[in-house]
Amino acid sequence: METINRRTFVKQTVTAAAAMAVPASVFAMPALAALQFTQVPMPYAPNALEPNIDALTMEIHYGKHHTAYIKNVNDAIADEKISFATEKDFFANISKLSAKARNNGGGAWNHNFFWQIMKPNSGVPAGKVAEAINAAFGSVDKFKEQFTQAAITRFGSGWAWLVKDGNTLKIGSTPNQDNPMMDVSDLKGTPLLALDVWEHAYYLKYQNKRNEYVANWWNVINWDEVAKRLN
Ligand code: MN
Repeated sequence: METINRRTFVKQTVTAAAAMAVPASVFAMPALAALQFTQVPMPYAPNALEPNIDALTMEIHYGKHHTAYIKNVNDAIADEKISFATEKDFFANISKLSAKARNNGGGAWNHNFFWQIMKPNSGVPAGKVAEAINAAFGSVDKFKEQFTQAAITRFGSGWAWLVKDGNTLKIGSTPNQDNPMMDVSDLKGTPLLALDVWEHAYYLKYQNKRNEYVANWWNVINWDEVAKRLN
C-alpha cells in the first residue's frame, strides 16, 4: 500500500483548499441551498382533538393561516435573499430581518411545533418531564396554573411557552408570532410546549372565552413529544 508522506499530504491538502476557494461562479456551481420552511403534515385528523378543539378551527388554522405563513416566509427568504441556512440562525438573527420574515417565519415554525405537541387524550406528564416540572414549579398543578396565567394574560395575539433555558424550565409568553428562539424575545430557550392564543385558534368554538379554551387544551397535550425535546 502506498504511503503518503507528510509533505505530499500537506501539498495535496493546500491544493484542494485552493481549488475550493475559487469563486463558485467560475464553475457555475449552484448557490448554497437557502433555508426553506415546510409545513409538517398534521399528525391526526382535523376532528381528532374534538371536543376540545373543533374540526373547522383546525382545518382553517392549518389549511389557511399556517399555509399562508409558510408561503409568505419562503417568499420573504427569496425576495430578500436571506442566506441563513438553518432555522436556528434565522431566528437568532431575526432583528436584522424584515417584519415579513419575522412574522411569517415565527408563524411557520410555531404552528409546525404546535401541531406536534398535541394529540387526542393527553394523559398526564410522566417520567423525566414530570420530574423536571416538579423541580421547576413544585407540582404539575402549579405548573399548569402558571402556564394558564401566562396564556390568559397575554394581551392580544401571541403564544404561551414552556422553555428549557440551560438546566431550568421557564414559562412565559411572546407577542404576535415571536418565539423564544428569536434574538428579540425577552423569553429565551428551547421550546418544550406552546399554546397559540390568537383568536383564530379558538374563536369559532369559544368566542371570547379564552380561559375555557386554555382549560380544555390540557386534554390534548402530547407529553411524549415534550419529553423528546427535553433531551
Ligand atoms: Mn395560529
